Amino acid sequence: MISKKYDIVVIGGGPAGASAAMSLSEKGYTVIIVEKKSFPREVLCGEFISKEVIEFLKINFLYKDFLKLNPNPIRLFRYIASNGTDVNSSLNFPSFGIKRSKFDNLLLSKAGERGAEIIQPAEVRGIIKKADGYLITIKVANEEEIKIFTKIIIAAYGKQNILDKISGRNFYRKKSCLNGVKFHIDKSMFRDFNPDEIVMFDGDDIYLGLNAVDNSTVTLCFLEKRNKLNYSTKERLILLSRQNRKFNAMLSEDFFDYVSKLQVYGTGNIYFGKRDIVNEGIYYLGDAAGVIAPLVGDGIGIAVQSAGMLSEILFRNNLHIEQSANEYRREWKKMFLRRMYIAGIIQKGVLNHSIRNTGIKVISRFPRILSTIIKYTRG
Ligand SMILES: Cc1cc2nc3c(=O)[nH]c(=O)nc-3n(C[C@H](O)[C@H](O)[C@H](O)COP(=O)(O)OP(=O)(O)OC[C@H]3O[C@@H](n4cnc5c(N)ncnc54)[C@H](O)[C@@H]3O)c2cc1C
Repeated sequence: MISKKYDIVVIGGGPAGASAAMSLSEKGYTVIIVEKKSFPREVLCGEFISKEVIEFLKINFLYKDFLKLNPNPIRLFRYIASNGTDVNSSLNFPSFGIKRSKFDNLLLSKAGERGAEIIQPAEVRGIIKKADGYLITIKVANEEEIKIFTKIIIAAYGKQNILDKISGRNFYRKKSCLNGVKFHIDKSMFRDFNPDEIVMFDGDDIYLGLNAVDNSTVTLCFLEKRNKLNYSTKERLILLSRQNRKFNAMLSEDFFDYVSKLQVYGTGNIYFGKRDIVNEGIYYLGDAAGVIAPLVGDGIGIAVQSAGMLSEILFRNNLHIEQSANEYRREWKKMFLRRMYIAGIIQKGVLNHSIRNTGIKVISRFPRILSTIIKYTRG
């Protein structure tokens, strides 16, 4: 039985889905966000909020609410290589650290206040294409199912999803062996941590970032290349601390025991390659459309920017599927493809021992390269 009809169904209430729903509701469409988890929820992320996001918050009159969440201001990017080289560049734009649970909850609740309907926890389980739209099956509490009908689907369900398999997306079977992990760590577990900085450390097949997200918490997030899953996250960090002495020097004595008891937010086998932006008339948004390498790119920025882009295109074309799809593909590629490509090359270089060492030597001789990289990987 169909419970209701909407102009637009947004699958996923993260930054991409919430900001698209907010903008499309404000344009007068009936929009529903279907979100699998109950917010506030955590998600794998370095929790670094960059300039594109700040611009988005300002344009959408959300900046004051964001500041009320007490994000931690960050002014300097520092890179500490395993050979001891320590380079930095000031960030000439406003940036912050904040827990994703707080940030995403702000966006989702504002989408609701501005007209979008939200159901959570509720998971989209199936999509059937009909002549004039889509029939969506949603699992709500106690395995109960509801069905809704919509003209437009925006899939903003993140980097990995069973729905990619169901829809036969082109990358679904590809393996990357790239795993990401996030922890929230008490600041007392670090020696001399400077909250003004985002610090990156490298080691063999790994890079790791640290930044404060409030007065007492530091986010530790790393991305690693791993072919065998034969060691724990704690062991991975111990290995890095042996390879990168300056990382080791920052940790308190009981750091590793402390970390082994923490909740891990992680994702395995993250695919950073090309994805289809529109498939079978479904518009992909945020990470579902493409995952930028986190070392130098800001996925949240791309999520909110692509949401604004898609909303404008759908509005301009009065929800006409074909026309909107062509424009969205074209504009998405123009705006994000180069950033994604540069970020991917840098990530591959950092995860490769010899390329990394050569790169570090060049950057320590010509430190301005660092600010150029920062500039060209942000929109
Ligand atoms: C290691 C790592 C570090 C990163 N660090 C940063 C950083 O510091 N700064 C930054 O800007 N970006 C960072 N990113 C990228 C950033 O996390 C993502 O780009 C961002 O979360 C994308 O937002 P999204 O809305 O597309 O997806 P998500 O935030 O993943 O949201 C997707 C939502 O969809 C929901 N969902 C999934 N399936 C269904 C379903 N079937 N039905 C209903 N709901 C569903 C999920 O519950 C989730 O809430 C990092 C990424 C990685 C891998």
